[in-house]
Amino acid sequence: MTKESTAKESGPIRDYWGEFGGCFVPETLVPTLSQLKALFLQLYQDPKFTEELRYLEQNFSGRPTPLYEAKNLSRKLNCRLFLKREDLLHTGAHKINNTLGQGLLAKYMGKKRVIAETGAGQHGVATATTAALLGLQCVIFMGEEDTLRQAPNVQRMKLLGAEVVSVQSGSRTLKDAVNAALQDWVSRVEDTHYILGSVSGPSPFPSIVAYFHECIGRETAAQLRQQYEIEQPDAVIACVGGGSNAIGMFRSFIDMPADKVQIYGIEAGGISDAPGRHARTIGLGEKGVLHGYHSLLLQDDFGAVAPVHSISAGLDYPGIGPEHAALHASKRVHYDFARDHEALDALTLLAQTEGIIPALESSHALAFLLRESQRFQGGNVVLNLSGRGDKDLAHYFAAQQQRNGTQK
Ligand SMILES: *Cc1c(COP(=O)(O)O)cnc(C)c1O
Repeated sequence: MTKESTAKESGPIRDYWGEFGGCFVPETLVPTLSQLKALFLQLYQDPKFTEELRYLEQNFSGRPTPLYEAKNLSRKLNCRLFLKREDLLHTGAHKINNTLGQGLLAKYMGKKRVIAETGAGQHGVATATTAALLGLQCVIFMGEEDTLRQAPNVQRMKLLGAEVVSVQSGSRTLKDAVNAALQDWVSRVEDTHYILGSVSGPSPFPSIVAYFHECIGRETAAQLRQQYEIEQPDAVIACVGGGSNAIGMFRSFIDMPADKVQIYGIEAGGISDAPGRHARTIGLGEKGVLHGYHSLLLQDDFGAVAPVHSISAGLDYPGIGPEHAALHASKRVHYDFARDHEALDALTLLAQTEGIIPALESSHALAFLLRESQRFQGGNVVLNLSGRGDKDLAHYFAAQQQRNGTQK
């Protein structure tokens, strides 16, 4: 393994946030990642590239997404709650922002084939959708466990023309799928681009993925001003798995004064703080290296990657993007958590008070707001609704039934 020397910061690319980040990859990938960085730095300023991306965002995936004032819930909570409606995007979540951006990068780089890892299948579906649109060959790596738990998304990916590789190694879940994708990439860098799914992985991925999600916060800040005449919100809340929807939202608010604009990242608290029963990487993780970058990481007593649990498959990841680790260290962002049962209750409440069924991931952000609503009395609160809950219905009803069973 080699570590790329700390290159100068350039444009939207950073290799490190404080001590977090970096590029810890096999030697064969070092030139590929350098090349990716150089090409991205050309393309993000290329009018043809940005015009094509903007057209697809507006007409294929549905940007800008609305900023909706949830008045019914606001009344209950005694605040003004604004929901950023990423759930209305094509394929049902923010993930399409990143896959469209990176898919276009692949096309402009002359790569004919894209690969991706997926856990719940949401990033796999967004990647397969993008590949179909752009005429790219597509292979998705997914742990065998996850292919069984998330069968409808496997069917979607296949219908979209992707090949789904069932990964048999390790715990046969997301972290093993990432390893398999990295291995495939090492062997086929000439014709393949790896569409990594969150603000994690070796540099330059965290910067590139964040860049393609910055539209979330940029639109939100403009909508607050133009539609609601609010210069600065009092609080901004988003759920955190790898951290991409949160970074996309937070970046527009981080430079506002910290005593005026409070920012909250909400992790999956799972069932309890016992090992293997949660995904609180920032709350309970320690420094370590996984999947090519240095950050906080859930580990067992021997430094091996710990098993993780969350009711929402999209938050079920033992790592966290390096920018979040740094925002935690600097205390600019407060990281907190919501438990499985709190997320389920938040989902029910939003469905029944506003007519919106949120993803279980996004429900964690809402659950935190509900639990801590005292803090937000009279304030203007922005919450990123990262995705819609259609994918979670079977899971939701099974979990509710189990709860009712154990209560009796
Ligand atoms: C994947 C996913 C997440 C978690 O990923 P981040 O990179 O932390 O944003 C959150 N919400 C939804 C709806 C997702 O599909």
